[in-house]
Amino acid sequence: MRIKKGDTVSVLTGKEKGKSGKVIKFFTDKQRVLIQGVNFVKRHTRQARQDKPGGILQKESPLHISNVAFVCPRCSKPVRLGAKFHADKSKVRICTTCQEVV
Ligand SMILES: [Zn+2]
Repeated sequence: MRIKKGDTVSVLTGKEKGKSGKVIKFFTDKQRVLIQGVNFVKRHTRQARQDKPGGILQKESPLHISNVAFVCPRCSKPVRLGAKFHADKSKVRICTTCQEVV
């Protein structure tokens, strides 16, 4: 089971390791997620127009989903996600640590 938009995730590797935030965008094709307030990159922008000065722009950069882990609201820590099937065959995500449906 996968991470989806609105989930709180924690970064497992890289310079942003240990940081957590909410998934604000999911790039399905690239398997990357944009996390609120995490992995800021500085972009140097050139002056495009007279009224728009160029400068340094800080923007979140997406991280690969293999580098992040879902943070269980009950455990308050990064956990593995599992799947559970209901009697009607519908699938739900569960935290493999506390078995809570998330
Ligand atoms: Zn849990």
